Amino acid sequence: MVTNYDANARAHAKGRIARHADRARVDSPGVVWWLAEALAGEPELSFPPLTEPVRADVCVIGGGYTGLWAAIEIREQSPDTTVVLIEREQCGFGASGRNGGWATGWHDELDGLIAKFGESEALRLAARSSWAIDRIESFSQEHDIDCHFRRHGALWTASSPWQVGSWEPAMATCERLGRAHRLEAVDPTDLRERTGSPLLLAGVRQTDAAAVQPALLVRGLRRVAHELGVRIYESTPMISLDRRRPAVVHTPAGKVTTERVILSTGAWAAELRELRRAVIPIGSQIVATEPMGDRLEDLKWASGELLGDSQLMVHYAQVSTDGRIVFGRGGGALGALGRVRDRHFYDPATLGEVAADFRRWFPQFADVRLTHGWGGPVDRAPGHLPFVGRLDAECDVLYGIGYSGNGVAPSALIGRILGRLAIGLSDDDTEGALAQGPPGYLPPEPIRSLGGAGVRAAVHFAERGEGHAIQSRSVHRALRRLVATKVPRALDPRQALKGSTEGDDNPHPR
Ligand SMILES: Cc1cc2nc3c(=O)[nH]c(=O)nc-3n(C[C@H](O)[C@H](O)[C@H](O)COP(=O)(O)OP(=O)(O)OC[C@H]3O[C@@H](n4cnc5c(N)ncnc54)[C@H](O)[C@@H]3O)c2cc1C
Repeated sequence: MVTNYDANARAHAKGRIARHADRARVDSPGVVWWLAEALAGEPELSFPPLTEPVRADVCVIGGGYTGLWAAIEIREQSPDTTVVLIEREQCGFGASGRNGGWATGWHDELDGLIAKFGESEALRLAARSSWAIDRIESFSQEHDIDCHFRRHGALWTASSPWQVGSWEPAMATCERLGRAHRLEAVDPTDLRERTGSPLLLAGVRQTDAAAVQPALLVRGLRRVAHELGVRIYESTPMISLDRRRPAVVHTPAGKVTTERVILSTGAWAAELRELRRAVIPIGSQIVATEPMGDRLEDLKWASGELLGDSQLMVHYAQVSTDGRIVFGRGGGALGALGRVRDRHFYDPATLGEVAADFRRWFPQFADVRLTHGWGGPVDRAPGHLPFVGRLDAECDVLYGIGYSGNGVAPSALIGRILGRLAIGLSDDDTEGALAQGPPGYLPPEPIRSLGGAGVRAAVHFAERGEGHAIQSRSVHRALRRLVATKVPRALDPRQALKGSTEGDDNPHPR
């Protein structure tokens, strides 16, 4: 069976670029469909910027999921604690307003979790990742956030022969540890029927997964945070931080004097010297079709099942509630020197490839218009898992980053940990494996950028089809190891910086 598909895939790969290059056009390049839909329904679009000195018990920097969940946790647990949240643009401007809307758990990553943390912590974390999806569902219901939450699972598939069976180790581990219900086998014919994609060879269904409209979620969290008493200032970037007690967060026209700081700046955290080697910004690009109405009616996945493959430059898709296919691909441009670049938000070359990939996945929709195409920065960490840490003991600065493209659900957990740590609450999560700072570090510059670009080019070559001859599971495994390259904790850049950060009042050199 695989051999036949192999031949099909070769044929696809050969003519793909020439065949589809002219179909890669997008009507509104750079416009985020999710944000356009969410903002159209909001009466008051923005909170005014900070223009005066203010005081707060906790100052949260960054208005994405992480910062908003942290602020909400604090106000829910400790209503007397004053919280100011500053956001350089509008809440949801970052990855939270522009992602693929996959709220997924970590049972597919159980092997990796066990290798890193041991069986018992791995099982606890996988269960907590499912809790995070529950949290989005229950919180949205409780607070009337209509984020189009649809819990119909995720199809984890193979879009080329060498990906077939990528899920087998995870299935075996789930089976062994009594979590078999988290990954279900899917018949390949049924898979192609329910998705309409002739390209898909095989796959499984991850049950702890839900589709959301990501911008409606982040804007809903913003509304509830405000209702709970969080003072939100938008168009207010932190331009420097005085690391003393109390700390002072400087913004262009005001400042926040505060006991504690929570840094939840996503990929922008790489601008901070101590975290520059803990995460690297990487682009991810998405196209959205026009609403397709009854043309999707026979496709079961259109009711909200997520669809993705097993590439390192992973494809991910969902059908929005108004009938658009929203189709993305990870592994885009690197942010050399820890910088988030314009190219992360709109990368025409990569978008053209993603558009061509969409046509290849769904040749029957060759005539369908692509109305929107956009991108965003992912905070890729060596361990591919988020982590919470503290910058230094003298000044209470917490951070929560490193989602590596899987943050929609996990940010509810990380935000909870940050919020609890900020008010001195402790439990299994605040003491657990994700609250121990970065699990490893990326190599220093220029090796990081040069090596990263080299690895990305190799992955691109192998996965786009031009390198079909070298496509195999062993090549994929080797590339995965390279992508995860890190240096030991002993070379922790925070150790090297000890002493030199004293009096450093500009950790965000913008
Ligand atoms: C295109 C794309 C697709 C993705 N798809 C998925 C998916 O399907 N499923 C999934 O689980 N994850 C996905 N992710 C990842 C997920 O979106 C993120 O992990 C998650 O949104 C991270 O939230 P955050 O709050 O930590 O960061 P962000 O949402 O990026 O928020 C950080 C905020 O900090 C602000 N900021 C930065 N610097 C400053 C400063 N100096 N002062 C004040 N504010 C500042 C930014 O403006 C931004 O709003 C995707 C990411 C991208 C980019």
